[in-house]
Amino acid sequence: MKIEKYSFGTGDRFGKEGLAQLQAIQDINRLGIPVVPVWNKSNREHSIIHSVPSDVKQEAAAAVAEGRYTGNYYVDADHINLDTVDRFVDSSNFFTIDVAHFIGRKASQEAIADFQTRYSKYLGDMNIPGIGQKLNVTAGFLTHLAEDYLAAIEEVKKIYDHICTIKGQANFVAEVSVDEAEIVQGPLELFFILAELKEKGVEVQTIAPKFSGLFAKGVDYIGDVQGFAREFEQDVAVVKHAVKELGLPENLKLSVHSGSDKFSIYPAIRAAIRKFDAGIHVKTAGTNWLEEVIGLAEAGDDGLEIARAVYAKSMDRYDELTGPYATVLKINRQLLPEVSLVNSWNGKQFSEALTHDQSCKNYNPHFRQLIHVGYKIAAEMGDRFLSALDKHHEIIASKVKYNLLERHLKPLFR
Ligand SMILES: [Zn+2]
Repeated sequence: MKIEKYSFGTGDRFGKEGLAQLQAIQDINRLGIPVVPVWNKSNREHSIIHSVPSDVKQEAAAAVAEGRYTGNYYVDADHINLDTVDRFVDSSNFFTIDVAHFIGRKASQEAIADFQTRYSKYLGDMNIPGIGQKLNVTAGFLTHLAEDYLAAIEEVKKIYDHICTIKGQANFVAEVSVDEAEIVQGPLELFFILAELKEKGVEVQTIAPKFSGLFAKGVDYIGDVQGFAREFEQDVAVVKHAVKELGLPENLKLSVHSGSDKFSIYPAIRAAIRKFDAGIHVKTAGTNWLEEVIGLAEAGDDGLEIARAVYAKSMDRYDELTGPYATVLKINRQLLPEVSLVNSWNGKQFSEALTHDQSCKNYNPHFRQLIHVGYKIAAEMGDRFLSALDKHHEIIASKVKYNLLERHLKPLFR
């Protein structure tokens, strides 16, 4: 199973917008751009919503049937580890192996020394076609790299072998993700991580490094956009170089776990994949839940009541909801609107505050981030929430599709 050059990770918390998401993909396909969908949902989301991995598979299959989609599609066991992988095995054909927590765990002195010996041939300047600057590999760099990553790579191998044993190596796509790590991986780190994965017999098709800057949930990139553009271009070049140099699968590509809506870096991603004729996987998902809330607010009446209640309860339970996402939120509580104010908003006001349109003076990224993690409140509403999604399906589905197509897929791929 080989994943296509362009893939787009999508998904919705409550499994209601499968078709709308697929239609966005089908529309970009009609423009002659072959992007395939990957439905993703992490273990963290499943445990908050009380959904199970087979729900995602069913949603994807139903959307594909209803939309008469004939291309390939994937179901991603997002951010799994050895403890959580088993419940995903039957319903997934794409596995995002997350070993961020193993970074920095010391491997044995022997393993570190062995790593240095094996890669000593790379000491000195590494010339990577397409990037202006030479990257220098020192003995100290190799030591640090081994100290930081060997244990994590060992863990990838355990998880990968486990999935191979159950599914067979040819029947799934493996991604390695370290995007939730505390340290950034630059292009050189990426090269040696890929080399060592190959050495261990792990065939990865996508890799998600941690990039510089903050990828806060639901809002734009926070950081140096020019710096990101340079770093990303180097990463793409290194992956291309590694494919040749190390004999890795031709379709190996970077994966960007966007945390949704990193609009300001989309041009850099687009430019780099064009320059190097490279593939890319971009994950987003939370953006669809936010479109659901926007659609409910705009629908008015009971829809608006629900949208307001999600915010009010999210304010009440701020610490509980933001806790699991602490490292990927940047909320200034002073800039969150009072609940009483939000309760006085009409649908348009609520929608303008929440919609990710930076040209709108009423857009509030703090409000948006809190609602982003407020899906637990909606899950607890149970039937009241789910039946409102059904009742207002038309407006919500049009928002979901428009957002993915116009704000994400076209800027990235067209
Ligand atoms: Zn991620």
